[in-house]
Amino acid sequence: MEKSDKIWMDGKLVDWDDAKIHILTNTFNYGLGVFEGIRCYNTAKGPAIFRLEEHLDRLYNSAKIASIKPNFSKDELRKALIKTIKVNKLKECYIKPIIYYGYGEIGLYPKNNPVNSAISVYPWGAYLGAEGLSNGISVKISSFSRHYINAAMTKAKICGFYANSQLAKMEAIENGYDEALLLDTEGRVAEGSGENLFIIKNRKLMTPPVLTVLDGITRDSAMQIARYKKYVVEEASLTRDMVYIADEAFFTGTAAELTPIREIDKRPIGIGRTGPVTKELQEEFFKAAKGKNKNFLHWLTFI
Ligand code: PMP
Repeated sequence: MEKSDKIWMDGKLVDWDDAKIHILTNTFNYGLGVFEGIRCYNTAKGPAIFRLEEHLDRLYNSAKIASIKPNFSKDELRKALIKTIKVNKLKECYIKPIIYYGYGEIGLYPKNNPVNSAISVYPWGAYLGAEGLSNGISVKISSFSRHYINAAMTKAKICGFYANSQLAKMEAIENGYDEALLLDTEGRVAEGSGENLFIIKNRKLMTPPVLTVLDGITRDSAMQIARYKKYVVEEASLTRDMVYIADEAFFTGTAAELTPIREIDKRPIGIGRTGPVTKELQEEFFKAAKGKNKNFLHWLTFI
């Protein structure tokens, strides 16, 4: 990965190579910590953070769900995040705030430990590759189920939940695919390892309801953009065969942005490359992210 200069840790800016934690840090051992993934895009008016407020709200909601009392307020963290981008002099970057249980007692009850926070910012290009972003990716239905809703709470970005995503992602990559698509415990289509799914059938967009998936902020952006472009968008329970016979499909996510899917389980989706509606929505998405559509300027926090 590409390094930046400084990482913010509990109010201090430390050199990238010195941003270290103790091996017995509670979250590192058991996974109860919360994080966000946010992007900052370069615009004609300088760098702008995409949908910062929604990401901060989700971070603090994740903390509530995980029963972590953040050691910084949302306002303090917002200021720290902007400052961290500025000191690193980055025009475009990925931003990863994390709130976690620190070093103190080891054991499964974390609440006697300090709560710590950190913000890393670093350059990160197309998560699923530039080629995937333009021509589409190949996807495998995972042999791993997405979390059962009473085993893990999918509205929170809790560090430990991502072991499930990592298992699914490794399985997909090691079998020659670009990404995994997980089904829920009832066998309905849920989401990618770090993305929400959309399909298009007869020019109508459909995406699984947020019951078993993360309420993605890019998912919401794609829905708003599609409605602005006069498409019908519906939340609908989907089965894997409904996805196989879709006209088009794409993933959304802060890292993945809006990535077309060209095939699933070796079955070409529609024309087997980026479909026309997906292309149109992807173009509109990048226009919005880069401040080129005045209808969506309120999504941007200029720094
Ligand atoms: N699902 C999962 C499991 C994720 O980790 C992510 C990435 N945060 C998403 C969906 C997409 O969410 P967002 O668009 O808010 O990044």
